[in-house]
This record gives sequence, C-alpha cells and structure tokens, in this order.
Amino acid sequence: MISRPKGTEDRLPAETGKWLRVERVLRDVSERFNYREIRTPIFEHTELFTRTVGETTDIVEKEMYTFKDRAGRSLTLRPEGTAPVGRAYIENGLYSGPQPVKVYYIGPMFRYEKPQAGRYREFVQYGAELLGSSSPLCDAEVIFLAVEICNALGLTETTLHLNSIGCPVCREGYRKALTEYLGARESDLCEDCRRRVGRNPLRVLDCKNETCRAILAGAPSMLDYLCTGCKEHFETLGKILTGMGMSYRIDPSLVRGLDYYTRTVFEVKWPPLGAQDAILGGGRYDGLVEALGGPSVPGVGFAVGLERLLMAVEKGKNPPQGWERLDCFVCYVDDTLAYRALEIANRLRVAGLRADFDQLGRSLKAQMKQASRYEARYAVILGPEETARGVATVRSMDEGWQREVQLERMKEEMQSLCRR
Ligand SMILES: [Zn+2]
Ligand SMILES: [Zn+2]
Repeated sequence: MISRPKGTEDRLPAETGKWLRVERVLRDVSERFNYREIRTPIFEHTELFTRTVGETTDIVEKEMYTFKDRAGRSLTLRPEGTAPVGRAYIENGLYSGPQPVKVYYIGPMFRYEKPQAGRYREFVQYGAELLGSSSPLCDAEVIFLAVEICNALGLTETTLHLNSIGCPVCREGYRKALTEYLGARESDLCEDCRRRVGRNPLRVLDCKNETCRAILAGAPSMLDYLCTGCKEHFETLGKILTGMGMSYRIDPSLVRGLDYYTRTVFEVKWPPLGAQDAILGGGRYDGLVEALGGPSVPGVGFAVGLERLLMAVEKGKNPPQGWERLDCFVCYVDDTLAYRALEIANRLRVAGLRADFDQLGRSLKAQMKQASRYEARYAVILGPEETARGVATVRSMDEGWQREVQLERMKEEMQSLCRR
C-alpha cells in the first residue's frame, strides 16, 4: 500500500466542510475590502525565490522543493505567495493600469520543514497584497484587513505586534551596529547564528534559541537607526492605528524571515494558541518588484497558514461547522420504488435543495439511520400503497411529526419547509 508523503495530509469529506467555511470567510472579508483573487502557478522558476526571499533565509537554504524539469530548467514548488504575485504584477503589466492593485490568494505552498502540530510540508496559505502605494494608510488598511479576518472567524482578543526594519539605507547602519554587538558575543551564540553573524546578522533576531534570545535582549534596536523617511512612516502608521482604535505593541525583536521586507513588519498573535501564538504576519516590501526587474513599485501585505488558522478557529468563539445539513433524504419501503426515490431526489436537487436517497437497497430502518447521519431535516418515505395514491409521507427529523404530501406538490412543499 502506498502512503502519502511525510508532511502532507488527506483532507477528508468530514473535514472539508470546515475548510470551505473558513475559506468563504477569507474571501468575503477580502472582497469587502475590495481585494480580488489572483491565481498564480504552483511552480515557478527557482530564481524567483532566491532573488526575493533571500539566499540566506531558511526557506531558500533548506526548505524549497526544487527540481529540474525534463528540459533541465530549475523549478521550485512555491514556498510562499508574495514573490509570485510580484512576478505576475510585472509580467502582466499590472503596474501600467490603475493603482493600487489589491489582490488575495488562497492555495497550497510547499516547504521541506519538520512536520509538527499545524505545520505541514504542503500547506494552504491565504495572503493579501496591495501594490502601488507607499502610503502608511495602506499598511494600516492591510493590518485592519488581517485583524478583521481574525474577528470574522471568532478570534477576538488578538494582539498586534509591530516593528519597522527600515529601508536598505538605514538598515546598513543598523547592520553594522548589530554585527559589532553580536561579534563580541559570537562564541555564545548557537551554531546557526554564528554562521549568520557574518552573512546576515538580522536573521539572528529571529532565533528561537534561549541563549541567543538572552543575548538579543541587550542588542541595539533597529528603531534607533531609522532614517527620517522610515521614522516618519512608522510614526504615522502608529497614529493611524491609534486613531482607528487599534492597540499595538512595538516589538523590536520582530523581523520576518524573508529578505524583501522594508519598513513595516507586523504579526497578529492569538494568546490562547500557546507558545507559538502568531497566526499571521506580514509587512511592507518596497524593493520586491524592482528586485524582480520591474519598475520601482512599493507593496504591503500579509499571509496566514490555514492549518494553524483552523486550529485556532476551532478553539475560538466561532468554531466552523462542517457541511450544511441535508434538506431531504428520500426513503422507500421496497426496491420497486428505488427509481421513484431517485426521481424525487433529483426533482428536489434541481429545485435548489440538498437531497439524497438510499443507493444500497437498505431496510427502511437503515435508511432512516442514514438520513440522521446526514442530519437531514426531512425524510420523504415512499410506500407502495401511498405511491399508488400519488402521495408520500414527509417526516420532520427534528420535530418528529409526519404527514402525507401529494407527490406532485413535493417540490413546492419541501421548498416552503426549507424556505429556499
Ligand atoms: Zn530608512
Ligand atoms: Zn541562535
């Protein structure tokens, strides 16, 4: 027997109803904010990610599913969604149309990570991106969208963590100061961080190692090195958020694990999730489009992994229900009526109702059990004597009453019972 690859999941019908509910909320909220869906390929040229995500990031160093196709091209299963959106923005000339361009995506991403609770090698990510404006109003809008998504899913009481990682100009000064600080303490850092100090010291800020965290507590803060433009941007964003009644915490240790971020970075955390309570994160990426060979166009966005989001939502105030109930299950007393059952079920389906009937020729008792299993609101029972009189019994599965209904009027009757 062939099993699924490590780090992947089968999402079975019992569970997919919940996924659809969550995805529907994501789409609804996005559309209320006037974001439209974009669909990019599952695989891209490897260079797209090495150039944007960054050579020294965990993603590029050890997590990408990279392969050669039959013509020898290096392709990579997308590990994230922002670089593909940037590429599509350039390749389709969206920069020459009306700005800003506001898009969202939902789809599978791939990272070769150690599988653990809520983390898979194939995972589904939702992301929203706003391209074509450097205004802090846009940072605020994107953050508001992120928080509204959490609220709509019943995840209230989230906390917003905010930082600025500056621009390439002011980050250079910070990088120097940080390298100096870390260099003096290099021997105490973990193995990964010792390697990072020389190549990309900002990455050390991400480290989860306790000794490294203790050392970082005294490290210089990026916020003290921001240039005038970056400082102003950060302060204005803070004022806008406060004005919208949103509280936030400035968190100097917050750096996102991708190289293309500039200025604003943020995370939304939901404390009931426990130790790893970040459910979504994002930031501004003013250099991304240009790094891909496009014009200099700023952007801001965020992404959220649906597996972890669903874990949170299940614990929240508004856990997603599964599939909607069946409206009607058509039962029959003997096999000669199976065809009539199919016919009636089909008539109800065409009329917009959720209907099914027994397809295994079970006993009436077993058919009623099946109706309960589908949480049918009503059962229609076909008996030989009643059918000969042109009627069938309709039974309310919730209230227990039953009555005869003309077969000819079954569609209208069920429609009015189910109010559709
Ligand atoms: Zn700057
Ligand atoms: Zn470390």
